[in-house]
Amino acid sequence: MIFWDDKYDEYRDTKRTLGIRDKQILYDRAKGRCENPACRKRISIIEMLPGHKKAWSKGGKTTLANSVCLCYACNKKQGTDSWAVFLKKQGYEDPKVKIKQGLETLSIKQLKCLADKHHTKVRGQVVDDWGDSYTTSPTKKQYIARLPGIVTVKELGSVVRTKQGLETLSLKQLKYLAAKHHIKVMGQVVDDWWDGSYTIAPTKKQYINKLSGIVTARDLGSVRKEAPQVAKKKNRRTRSIAR
Ligand SMILES: [Zn+2]
Repeated sequence: MIFWDDKYDEYRDTKRTLGIRDKQILYDRAKGRCENPACRKRISIIEMLPGHKKAWSKGGKTTLANSVCLCYACNKKQGTDSWAVFLKKQGYEDPKVKIKQGLETLSIKQLKCLADKHHTKVRGQVVDDWGDSYTTSPTKKQYIARLPGIVTVKELGSVVRTKQGLETLSLKQLKYLAAKHHIKVMGQVVDDWWDGSYTIAPTKKQYINKLSGIVTARDLGSVRKEAPQVAKKKNRRTRSIAR
């Protein structure tokens, strides 16, 4: 037992630092600069001291994915902090953390739109049903696990802003936008035993769901300019109701 533990520790120690080849890759990936955004000092490869994103003492692996290129001073400053904590202490937040929080506010449809935009295929779970295996559609969690690192802060901001912008529009303005993009928004199908089945006009929510991810911030600005009369008319109506 003791013998095994010794062996294990020895294995961990040898894996604590990157190999020469990986060091070169890390250095090139960082373009020869300290990766602390507050520093960005140009360093030589000999000066580089790779840091762990997740501390080695806390189970972080010595892999390229878990490594950052740091200068001597920043490596010392990081100490045993994780990369995210280290950045936060200096007033920088890991954009991936921010993106993840933003993605959580989106609907699954918007997440799908974002993934499609980047031609990223997010796979659902493979379910084995008595030898008959099929794949379920990906969950929100699976999208969120996949998209940070692909989606940029700017893109996410525009999706969130577009959604908020769409919510401020009237139904008529939404209809106008849908027509502009040749998008057919379907209302609910009602099955009536007397009249047969018919479709009711789509709701504002259905328009917003369908349009977010397709409509751009620019479109939103143009609808306010191009269809201001529509907005005015709506205001008058709400006013008369209020009276
Ligand atoms: Zn530095």
